[in-house]
Amino acid sequence: MSDADDGSEGTSESTVGTVYLVGSGPGDPDLLTVKARRLLDEADVVLHDKLPGPEILGQIPEEKREDVGKRAGGEWTPQEYTNKRLVELAREGRTVVRLKGGDPFVFGRGGEEAEHLASEGVPFEVVPGITSAIGGPAVAGIPVTHREHASSVSFVTGHEDPTKGESAVNWKALAEAGGTIVVLMGVGKLPDYAKALRDAGMDPETPVALVERATWPNMRVATGTLDTIVDVRDEHEIEPPAVTVVGDVAGTRERVLEFLRNESESGVEP
Ligand code: SAH
Repeated sequence: MSDADDGSEGTSESTVGTVYLVGSGPGDPDLLTVKARRLLDEADVVLHDKLPGPEILGQIPEEKREDVGKRAGGEWTPQEYTNKRLVELAREGRTVVRLKGGDPFVFGRGGEEAEHLASEGVPFEVVPGITSAIGGPAVAGIPVTHREHASSVSFVTGHEDPTKGESAVNWKALAEAGGTIVVLMGVGKLPDYAKALRDAGMDPETPVALVERATWPNMRVATGTLDTIVDVRDEHEIEPPAVTVVGDVAGTRERVLEFLRNESESGVEP
């Protein structure tokens, strides 16, 4: 595509708007950064999917919003469409916020959008957000590192099938590393990677927590062990978006629960 030099009106540099790749945090509007809040107020257009959650999306005026998440038929909007739309809007001189759940560069395809904007010569800025990979466990009373329990933490996608040799995630190495494992997009394939971790020698009694819709009004937390967590998921019908925390740190929740205040009443306690 070379419409950068097509000579049409509105493409001169002075009229090109900026695209802000903004992280929304996990969903509580109070966890937006001050900068994200300001940019949402100032933006002409906000491109988003459902992940920022109902409260944050509900605060953005309807006329500014463009949903580039799941379409009516359940299909995802193609990434190419979103990329093109960002460039198009910027070249119309608009200030554009591309709002992404959590942090824009953690499993959100924000990296691809940044590369596309750069290749098209569109000015952009990245505004970090609190990733659900850290903030989700935190509000459930789970520190992702802990002096006594975990000196490292890995963020991995659960989307891939660990039974197909081509998985990009090395579950065996993770099992052996002994640190905390936080799995994003990992509700559906939980049985597969729970098994992969057990097969790699991880203790079946290792605590596991599922934090569903972290910081949303209807957040839930379900806990079990590497052995029981699939049953726990099924019993409580845990659904995406949720993060899975595997490791001894998940047990910290039990010890702080009584005094934990930032959790909704609906927290599941199996
Ligand atoms: N950029 C996002 C991650 C995008 S991938 C971030 O930094 O958080 C989508 C996955 O993120 C979901 O499948 C889920 O695993 C996780 N996720 C995002 N928001 C969440 C929330 N509020 N509660 C639990 N998990 C969430």
